[in-house]
Amino acid sequence: MKLSAPPIRSRTTVSPFGNAPTTSPGYTNPNKQKVIAATGARSSSRHTQTIYHLRCAHCGHDYGCNGLDIKSRLCPQCQSGAPGEPLRERAPSLFE
Ligand SMILES: [Zn+2]
Repeated sequence: MKLSAPPIRSRTTVSPFGNAPTTSPGYTNPNKQKVIAATGARSSSRHTQTIYHLRCAHCGHDYGCNGLDIKSRLCPQCQSGAPGEPLRERAPSLFE
């Protein structure tokens, strides 16, 4: 019996970049910057990106970072990284 092609997996997240593991909560980049959660807020520096809540494992600093930059992010406080984007709670308003 011949093996058939593997079934097409349905994606659980919708992203133009596929299921990038760097945006998964719990991911830690090589600079020890850990993804805490997706905030859903729109990035001000990259219009197609949303902001993720990152935390530095060295100093505990919390800041926002767009999804594309997570993998090479440096802590703005102790690693001379670029200033973090503001962390905002997901707005309860219907009119964003
Ligand atoms: Zn730090």
